[in-house]
Amino acid sequence: MSYCHCGSTTSFEQCCQPLLNGKAFAPTAEALMRSRYSAFVTGAVDYLLQTSASESHEPDERALLENSCKNTRWLALHVLDTEHGSEIDGKGIVEFAAFFQTGDSPEQLHERSRFEKRDGRWLYVSGEFLAPLTFGRNDACWCRSGKKFKKCHGAR
Ligand SMILES: [Zn+2]
Ligand SMILES: [Zn+2]
Repeated sequence: MSYCHCGSTTSFEQCCQPLLNGKAFAPTAEALMRSRYSAFVTGAVDYLLQTSASESHEPDERALLENSCKNTRWLALHVLDTEHGSEIDGKGIVEFAAFFQTGDSPEQLHERSRFEKRDGRWLYVSGEFLAPLTFGRNDACWCRSGKKFKKCHGAR
């Protein structure tokens, strides 16, 4: 069995897929964040539009998302911190680092995202970009290969 795109230790079918299909709704801000990552991986643009606050959309949001999904290879997600965002909360914050590639070498998006529950559904509202995480040579590599950073993506 392979694990879900979002880095959880359950399968896609049991994790993010029911959310992307509209068969279930994300119970927490973190679950929504993870499912949106899986939506970027699988090109589920409708889901990305439905799960973000409309006031955060650019006029050409759909085209921007389609382009982003087409041109980005997502490599790994690490959820680093959450504040509130549980089933009983109305707001939440999730900090994550997402690793992706659009050109020759991997890049990292390190963000603290704000989520709000509106009409019972979690939505992504906005995010604040943070400095990329750095990895020590003996740290586990971010790609979850199980190798040390220096033997994997940190090898030179
Ligand atoms: Zn998942
Ligand atoms: Zn690696």
